Amino acid sequence: MNPVPSPWQPAARTDRRNPLTTSMPTVRPDRRHLASGIPGPLSSAFEARRRAAVARGVGSAVPVYAAAADPGLLHDIDGNAFIDLASGLGVTAVGNAAPDVVAAVREQVGLFTHTCFLTSPYSGYVEVCEELSNLTPGRHEKRSVLLSTGAEAVENAVKVARAATGRSAIVVLDHAYHGRTNLALGMTAKNAPFKQGFGPFAPDIHRVPTSYPYRDPQGMTGEEAAQRALEALERQVGGENVAAIVVEPVQGEGGFIVPAPGFLPALQSWCREHGALFVADEIQSGFCRTGAWFASEHEDLVPDLVITAKALAGGLPLSAVTGRAEIMDAVQLGGFGGTYGGNPVACAAALASIEVMRTGHLVDSARAIGDTLFTRLRALAVRHPAIGEVRGRGAMVGVEIVEPGGRRPGAEAAQRLAKACQQRGVLLLTAGTHSNVLRFLPPLVIPPALLNDAVDVIEECCDELLA
Ligand SMILES: *Cc1c(COP(=O)(O)O)cnc(C)c1O
Repeated sequence: MNPVPSPWQPAARTDRRNPLTTSMPTVRPDRRHLASGIPGPLSSAFEARRRAAVARGVGSAVPVYAAAADPGLLHDIDGNAFIDLASGLGVTAVGNAAPDVVAAVREQVGLFTHTCFLTSPYSGYVEVCEELSNLTPGRHEKRSVLLSTGAEAVENAVKVARAATGRSAIVVLDHAYHGRTNLALGMTAKNAPFKQGFGPFAPDIHRVPTSYPYRDPQGMTGEEAAQRALEALERQVGGENVAAIVVEPVQGEGGFIVPAPGFLPALQSWCREHGALFVADEIQSGFCRTGAWFASEHEDLVPDLVITAKALAGGLPLSAVTGRAEIMDAVQLGGFGGTYGGNPVACAAALASIEVMRTGHLVDSARAIGDTLFTRLRALAVRHPAIGEVRGRGAMVGVEIVEPGGRRPGAEAAQRLAKACQQRGVLLLTAGTHSNVLRFLPPLVIPPALLNDAVDVIEECCDELLA
C-alpha cells in the first residue's frame, strides 16, 4: 500500500548552492548592468516559491534575489547589477561584505560562534563597549549593554530610563520610528502598515509634535516648535512624570526630517531641568551616516542615552544602549540580558567596521556624498515643482515629492519614481509618514562614478515621470 504523503513532509531539497555559481558570469560587472528584465527569470521563480513559503506580511521593495554585493553594487541571481542607494536600510555603511569585516567574521566564527555573554564572557563584547564609550558624544564616564536588534535596544533604553528615574512616562515625537516590537511600535508613529491590527500597545507612551520645517507654519523656529512640544507634554503628561524624551536626531522612516536648529537642544535643556533623560535613537543616523560619528553632534547634544544598531556591525545583527555610568548602572545585576545579545561574531564585525570607519575617514566620505547629492538634487528640484524639498545631513538625504503647486504629499509619484529607478538598475527606496519621500542611504564607500550614474538615472526618471 502506498503511504499517503504527509502534508507536513518538507519539499524535496533542491540544490542549495548559490544560484550565482551556476547562472552568473565569473566576472561581476563593476557598474550598473541590466542582464534581464526586472525581475529576471531566476528571481521570478524564487518569487513563486516565496509566495508558497514566506508569510505575506513580509514585504520587499524589489523582487530581485541577491547573489553578491560590492561597495555600491548589488548583484542579483539573474546577473543584474543595481547601484545600491539603500545599504540594506543604512546598515552596510562600510560596504557590503567589506573585506576587513569578512576577515574578522571568518576568524571569529572559526574560534567560537557563541557562548552567551551571560554564561561566559569574551573580549569582543568589552571592546565594543569601550569603542562606544569613546565614540558617542560627551566625555563623561559611560557604560553600554549590547543587544541584537534596534527595537530590542530601544526597549532596553526604556528600561534604563524607568529604573534610573523611578518614573514611567516616555515621550516620543510625531513621525517617529523606533521599531516593531510591541513597546517599540507604541513609540512608532505611523499606523499602516506598522501598527495596524497589532494593538493594544504598551501604556504611558505619549506623542507630541515634532519640528518639521517643511510642514510647520512658515518661519517657525526650533525653539517655537520645542515650546509647542513641551506645552503639550506638560499639559498631557506632567513634567514630573516623564522618565525620558526619546528623539531621532534626524528622523529616518518618518521622512528624513531634520528638525529646525534649536529644537533638540531645547528638549535636552528641558530634560535637564526636569530630571528626565534625553535619549537619542541614533540607530539610523549614527556611525558616520550624517557626516559626523553621531547626528547629535551637529547641535552639540550630549544625550544621556544613545541607542545604536544598523551600521554598528557592518551587516551583522548587533545593537547597543550607551549612557552615563550612574544611569546605566541603575539597572540591577541580571536586569539586562538575552541569549544572543552581543554575539561574538557580531562583535568582531563591529570592531572591524568601526576600524574601517575610522581609518577610511567615512565621516568625510558621508559629507562628500551629501555634497554631490544636495548639489545635483537641488538643481533638479529647480525644474521640477513636484520636488518639494531636498533635505538631510551628509549621506542621509530625503527628497519630498508633492503635488505641483502646493505641498500635498505626492505618494503615488514617489512610488512610481522609485519603481522606475529600480527598473533601470538603481535601488532607491521611499520613506515618510505619507510614503512620499525618496530616501538616499548609499554605502559610505560608494565610488563617485556609481553615485553620479545613479543620480543621472533619477534625473531621467524625474524628467519622464514628473509633471
Ligand atoms: C531601524 C530603526 C529602528 C529599529 O531597528 P530594528 O533593528 O529594525 O529593530 C529603530 N529606530 C530607528 C531610528 C531605526 O531607523
